[in-house]
Amino acid sequence: MARIKQDELVFLPLGGSGEIGMNFNAYGYGPENNRQWIIVDCGVLFGREGNTPGVDLILPDIRYLMERRETVLGIIATHAHEDHIGAIAPLWPGLRCPIFATPFTARLIAGKLEEAGLTSKVKVREVPVGGQLELGPFLLDFISITHSILEPNLLAIRTPLGVVAHTGDWKIDPDPLLGEATDTEALERLGNEGVLAMVCDSTNALVPGSSGSEAEVRDNLIALVGTLKGRVAVTGFASNVARLDTVARAAKAHGRRIALVGRSMQKMVEAAKDTGYLKDFPPVLDETEAAELPPHKVLYLCTGSQGEPRAALSRIANGSHPHVELDEGDTVIFSSRVIPGNELAIAEIQNKLAARSIGILTVQEHHVHVSGHPARDELAQMYRWIRPKLALPVHGEIRHQMAHAKLALELQVPQALVPENGQMFRLAPGRPVLVDEVPAGRVHLDGRILVAEGEGLAKDRRAMGFAGLLVVALVVDHKGRIAAPPTVLGEGMPEPVEEAVLKAVEETLDKNKRADPDELAENVRRAARRAAQEAWGKKPITRVLVTEL
Ligand SMILES: [Zn+2]
Ligand SMILES: [Zn+2]
Repeated sequence: MARIKQDELVFLPLGGSGEIGMNFNAYGYGPENNRQWIIVDCGVLFGREGNTPGVDLILPDIRYLMERRETVLGIIATHAHEDHIGAIAPLWPGLRCPIFATPFTARLIAGKLEEAGLTSKVKVREVPVGGQLELGPFLLDFISITHSILEPNLLAIRTPLGVVAHTGDWKIDPDPLLGEATDTEALERLGNEGVLAMVCDSTNALVPGSSGSEAEVRDNLIALVGTLKGRVAVTGFASNVARLDTVARAAKAHGRRIALVGRSMQKMVEAAKDTGYLKDFPPVLDETEAAELPPHKVLYLCTGSQGEPRAALSRIANGSHPHVELDEGDTVIFSSRVIPGNELAIAEIQNKLAARSIGILTVQEHHVHVSGHPARDELAQMYRWIRPKLALPVHGEIRHQMAHAKLALELQVPQALVPENGQMFRLAPGRPVLVDEVPAGRVHLDGRILVAEGEGLAKDRRAMGFAGLLVVALVVDHKGRIAAPPTVLGEGMPEPVEEAVLKAVEETLDKNKRADPDELAENVRRAARRAAQEAWGKKPITRVLVTEL
């Protein structure tokens, strides 16, 4: 007799556990052989030049859900940061499901779908701020919280087996300046209902105290700009619309006109205005107009606070920006933190600015930035509101997730589980438990092609970056005899290496007069690598091409 399996509620993270970025979480409901899924967030991780040369975006490997895409009811975005929405456009063709978000987030996702040429295939469906969404067995409440972007949402995910609180990214900002404040009443009500599990942001679980408010940053930035004489450039995250508003107000307060430098600044201001925010943002100058103003009349708001080589600030620091020039006596304010891994790139820019006597002000000496993620006091407050039976810390490296789990237990949460990408947890019925492990990992968006990380392209490129590429071309006749002198081509290596390799190849050919072409190629490859190693101390990637006449 066929066994009818009972309904279960499961949680499956496929990204964002073990790394800050690439957030991807799925919830499944139904019996094991007939589950329906929702996806909460679908984000990217940015490639690092050293680790993944030539790869800009890293995406989660979601083949488990792609293989059952008919059962995926939709992607829901909690907010519009790239680590939550950046993978929607590249991965959507493998899912072909509806997409849901609040208006500002929807507007930014729509822009990405348009860039990817997907507008005719899928439209983002808007959920009002504070609204509700029903998808199969899931009923979702969008509860307004605060973060470092407009319209961040905590999702209360209701199912017939119980409620899960999915926080997304958040902090408790008593005065977020723009957009909704934290809906503490809704959070308290949710806690009173009884919550099975809370899936929660771990980014700052090691940071004591509270993250601070955008309002403090506003006061400080306005005062700071007032002390400066020459041109002022402020750099920060374009997505922090409240901060952009603050910078505009600082400019206005001191008689400066504002110019936006960098496409993402312009795009973000447009998206905010289109969705009803920034109503009194001052008119912005274009870069050429700003260049004609006296230095004390201008303030540039520019991208590139993380040292991104193609962003505005890097080009300004190099003196290679077509319209924006800074000189001695001008000042750059970094209204941002240093994202781990970007230290060297940022230091390089700051050194270039310093060498030209351009002033640099950062969060180290001035309170010009606050984090958008909850420090420990805020986490404690959230656990007091929600009082879940289970803590599932996500959105962090393992050390953050572990510290978060420990804190949750100290706050009397009965159980805490630190998930890894690909681990499936049954949240109900019964005590939560790990029930399955599914394929998970990373996929690189390499140019326009998706490539599984394991295929080793990035590894080959790193190797080529370290020791170049060596190509040996041989010509043999139909009897396998050498029919022309060999050619050696070394890319990215000193000249004597090529000469040493050519000599070794010629000697090998002399000794292999009767070898078959495959054997000959392999012997030549080994000899070439050995010669490079002896002459240079490095083994380049080596390829042998044999042309048979
Ligand atoms: Zn975020
Ligand atoms: Zn995030």
